[in-house]
Amino acid sequence: MDNTESTPIDSASSGFSSEILLSPLLQYWGYRDFRPLQREAMTLVMHDQDSLVVLPTGGGKSLCYQVPAMCRNGLALVVSPLISLMKDQVDSLRSVGIPAACINSMQTNRDKLEVARQIRQHELKLLYIAPERLVQDKTIDFLRDAGVSFVAIDEAHCISQWGHDFRPEYRQLSRLRDAFPGISVHGYTATATEMVRQDIAAQLQLRNPQILVGSFDRPNLSYRVERRSDAIGQIQRILNRHKDESGVIYCISRRNVETTSTALNRLGFRTLPYHAGMADGDRKRSQESFIDETVQIIVATVAFGMGIDKSNVRFVIHAEMPRSLENYQQESGRAGRDGLEAECTLLYSAGDVDTWEYLMKDIEDPAVYAVSRESLLSMQGYCINTVCRHQQLVRHFGQTLEHTNCGACDICLQEMQPVTDSLIMGQKILSCVVRQGQRFGASYTAQVLRGSKGKRIVENGHDRLSTWGLLKDEPEPQIRNWIDQLLSQGFLRQTGEYNCLEVTDTGRRLLKGELIPALLRARDGVAAQTTDDLWSGVDRPLFEELRGLRTRLSVQKQVPPYIIFSDATLRDLARQRPTRPDGLNQVYGIGRQKVDEYGTVLLFTIRQWCEQHNLPGDVSAEAFMPQTIRRKPSARPTDNLAAATPYFDLFEQGLTIEEVCLQLDRSAGTVSQYLEKYIRVHQIDNIDRWVKPAIRERILQAIGQIGNERLKPLFEFLNSEVSYDDLRIVSALWDIKHSQ
Ligand code: ADP
Ligand code: ZN
Repeated sequence: MDNTESTPIDSASSGFSSEILLSPLLQYWGYRDFRPLQREAMTLVMHDQDSLVVLPTGGGKSLCYQVPAMCRNGLALVVSPLISLMKDQVDSLRSVGIPAACINSMQTNRDKLEVARQIRQHELKLLYIAPERLVQDKTIDFLRDAGVSFVAIDEAHCISQWGHDFRPEYRQLSRLRDAFPGISVHGYTATATEMVRQDIAAQLQLRNPQILVGSFDRPNLSYRVERRSDAIGQIQRILNRHKDESGVIYCISRRNVETTSTALNRLGFRTLPYHAGMADGDRKRSQESFIDETVQIIVATVAFGMGIDKSNVRFVIHAEMPRSLENYQQESGRAGRDGLEAECTLLYSAGDVDTWEYLMKDIEDPAVYAVSRESLLSMQGYCINTVCRHQQLVRHFGQTLEHTNCGACDICLQEMQPVTDSLIMGQKILSCVVRQGQRFGASYTAQVLRGSKGKRIVENGHDRLSTWGLLKDEPEPQIRNWIDQLLSQGFLRQTGEYNCLEVTDTGRRLLKGELIPALLRARDGVAAQTTDDLWSGVDRPLFEELRGLRTRLSVQKQVPPYIIFSDATLRDLARQRPTRPDGLNQVYGIGRQKVDEYGTVLLFTIRQWCEQHNLPGDVSAEAFMPQTIRRKPSARPTDNLAAATPYFDLFEQGLTIEEVCLQLDRSAGTVSQYLEKYIRVHQIDNIDRWVKPAIRERILQAIGQIGNERLKPLFEFLNSEVSYDDLRIVSALWDIKHSQ
């Protein structure tokens, strides 16, 4: 995938070399190279070229304007929506030795006067300010003589009412253009939708803006979906994997926040609740305890998160399904901002959809209602599909990952195993639906299959059906999960107010044995096996020791622990174990200021530790892995040839998708992804074996009209009547025909 939507300007043309950006990066932050698109984004600022930069959470947006601010003369203005965010950023800039300040309504007059003095004396490099304050006449007048270098707008989506966090005060920012003519404006956001991007550019009146869009994938996060059966038990198992690590548990309702937090505390965990119904003071205390790490676990509603920059969140659990994939991306995205591995698990139950539908019923505007419902269904799709979770997430945002195994989701890690005889399993379930007269929902069906003597079942005489108790050895959540899988593969559909199950035409072919479903079974007791590489060479007990030191320093300095050192820095210290001052310069995330401030105590602690534990110090940095997980960007299909070979062979032999599924025990989704690759790699121009000609023509026509950059609009354009698999395959055909 191409990382940029438009080509960044040629920095060489005006005598500027982006190499000069590397010097502050190392000197202040202790980082040796750029994250993807940072160099390009910084170059745009250096050239006064208006820009909008879209990177996911943790992608390193702040540095995109902070580094240029250090390379340019004058004062950079940064607009930020929340006081807590401003404070965090200013703390963290100061901690690396950069003169920065903020102006906000919580400051005392004395503080404000001091900041004004610093501005007049040209002592500051960055000034954080709330939008409503920036656009006041007196602020503008005052800043006119301050030598403003450029304006950066953080969380720029707040200006758009299509975004998920519209803030009317951002709208006033359109005044900036007149107030500071000739000064470039740069927006930064993690929001992925095209409509919001265009809106931001228009509202900010950006001039011929360069829009940079990064990959939305977060390779360091592992994603899992579990059907919710015993929520507290399931959460407990995850918490046990993260002793003493920070994490967030999201619930839909305030009541659930309270009950979950209480239940976990009874089990011996220390958690605090957070929701909008709590008294301000209590809520603030919860948040602060989480930030300064006196409490590691927060149980919260969606109210929690915005304004929290804590970089070392190691897990995010959704005890219930959020209402959209945008929300899920935002909330789960709070994990692993430091680039280290983190775990995101979603506990799903079909009832969550009902809860959201109930909550949505008051939406009056039919257009808004339609969009909300569609978002809800995409979210549900994520929960029940058997396609790589990373892939599903980026696809939702209009991108694709080239690799076929992410190595970091329940599907790719095969925590779900193919059911040995999935045809028979599918037939058992579908015939039960038929025998019940297609008038009952998924839960009920699962209970009949399990052989329940429930009152309704007996009253309906369904305990006398031949399908009653057919799956008595399977746990009910597992049966429910199979029903979901059959729904998502189109063998069943839900109808009516009560979501009664009905067998589709495709389902009838399954009953006749003509089609085979791909059913997966959750494997028992799988440990969350995520990338251990980022621990390689790290002396864990020393890491813990350094963590203790960080907590003490944080209390002393009154800044959050993650501002003193990130977890990645602590790991690198515990890996390289420097005992001499020059060794500190090699450590990830330690710049000059940190050496001056903490060098002595670090070296002392490490030296002592190494002596006491007979551990070698000063281990070379060369031997180790990079500090963050980076999947190779967009490996070309041929790069994965080894994995693809068995698929390609079978396609070559003329097998259909269903047949390949059967041969290789893979889901139709996976097989069709390989098929798409096969078609592209081998430039296959006849796809009749896999897609009916009539459907092919319909899709080709649609692509002719609206293009094939994204599949979702195509899917909608075709009234959801063709499958994504068909779309993908025909889309590949189109590309081949048009590249010849
Ligand atoms: P965002 O605002 O996009 O969510 P941040 O700017 O908070 O992301 O950056 C996330 C983390 O990555 C921070 O800890 C930051 O210091 C770190 N980071 C940013 N750029 C780099 C880089 N080039 N090399 C290493 N770490 C980086
Ligand atoms: Zn995956």
